Amino acid sequence: MLVGWGGNNGSTLTAAVLANRLRLSWPTRTGRKEANYYGSLTQAGTVSLGLDAEGQEVFVPFSSLLPMVAPDDLVFDGWDISSLNLAEAMRRAQVLDWGLQEQLWPHMEALRPRPSVYIPEFIAANQSARADNVIPGTRAQQLEQIRRDIRDFRSSAGLDKVIVLWTANTERFCEVVPGLNDTAENLLRTIQLGLEVSPSTLFAVASILEGCAFLNGSPQNTLVPGALELAWQRRVFVGGDDFKSGQTKVKSVLVDFLIGSGLKTMSIVSYNHLGNNDGQNLSAPPQFRSKEVSKSSVVDDMVHSNPVLYSPGEEPDHCVVIKYVPYVGDSKRALDEYTSELMLGGTNTLVLHNTCEDSLLAAPIMLDLALLTELCQRVSFCTDIDPEPQSFHPVLSLLGFLFKAPLAPPGSPVVNALFRQRSCIENILRCAPTLGIPTYGPDVHWRGCA
Ligand code: NAD
Repeated sequence: MLVGWGGNNGSTLTAAVLANRLRLSWPTRTGRKEANYYGSLTQAGTVSLGLDAEGQEVFVPFSSLLPMVAPDDLVFDGWDISSLNLAEAMRRAQVLDWGLQEQLWPHMEALRPRPSVYIPEFIAANQSARADNVIPGTRAQQLEQIRRDIRDFRSSAGLDKVIVLWTANTERFCEVVPGLNDTAENLLRTIQLGLEVSPSTLFAVASILEGCAFLNGSPQNTLVPGALELAWQRRVFVGGDDFKSGQTKVKSVLVDFLIGSGLKTMSIVSYNHLGNNDGQNLSAPPQFRSKEVSKSSVVDDMVHSNPVLYSPGEEPDHCVVIKYVPYVGDSKRALDEYTSELMLGGTNTLVLHNTCEDSLLAAPIMLDLALLTELCQRVSFCTDIDPEPQSFHPVLSLLGFLFKAPLAPPGSPVVNALFRQRSCIENILRCAPTLGIPTYGPDVHWRGCA
């Protein structure tokens, strides 16, 4: 279930899964294109298994390491403050070629987002015209309605599981206040009393209470300490924050490479301009601030990993600018400048220009998030110290590869370096036995991998 289903990401992901399921192809000025899942780690990535008897390296699709849900088996539902059906939302997004839109239209027309929680002070004022599909009532009544929606979808579609993913607009940060949202008990009381809670936190709480994993694709601090504690108490997976799609992904590779090569990166300056609705929302200062914070933390672990280059407390200057330019639409431009010190007083400046179709980058990441989270829900392990089967920690840090500002369990280090994050997923999938688990369904259980 997608919160913000009618947005560019939500409509593009729904369209992508349908287009692949229906094996669609469509004409473009450079020839016919066929539906695929480029950009998805699970659907388009491979893993090296080692060498075969002839000494040749063997690569297998990521999705074949362990039994994963096939995207064709996913069913979509969700909420949006805008009432447009998914076909209209796809047209509004201006992401897909016209020939593809025409074929998808009859399959998307009947999909209509459920009303959602609209609290104007959390998103930009420029979004108010969209809000024609809202849940009335108190915060407690809204929470109950979201829970009913989840139950209704689960039973009417006959589902095994529901995973809720926030892909609605970026909200302003929510202040963490003792007594308000610092513990699970306080957060639940805050909702009952109608005190300040963000829509995204309300969705997180509803999902957790329904036993559904909740993932946050936007930068704001949805998973306040009270929500994390609730997830811990209920043993429900949560993950976040902010999809790692374009500029940040490059940054987490490039800075890892620079600092890993022994070059002292001293300045990172990133300019973005984009013209989609996300860009319009981010043109308001409080929402921009959420994005700025999320984009700025991505090099911290790489800087801290090298005390030869950086003395304690020393950090590169890191500046992020985002501008709304309607004409470029969903085709986001990112310009980055990395300046590093070389030996003997030298300087190296790398300048990068990245044109990336935002929603086409984000949609496969959303798919991976759902599929990997579902897989993790079927994994248990025991150790020599504790023979009781246990699951991963509710804060699913394994998803860090897919998030800009990855959440980690309290006290655990946050890893941003992209290939360390990828290795984490790979290693976990590798160390589970794959033999004898031919299809989707059985739980995965293994011993001794604490
Ligand atoms: P979008 O503006 O096209 O879609 C967001 C949708 O959320 C809209 O349809 C809006 O009506 C809806 N919405 C707003 N508040 C809501 C609420 N309270 N409940 C339900 N629906 C609500 O934006 P997008 O391009 O789809 O991006 C979605 C989010 O993903 C943004 O926060 C963006 O910052 C984040 N993100 C996107 C990318 C990317 O590459 N596309 C990368 C990282 C993060």
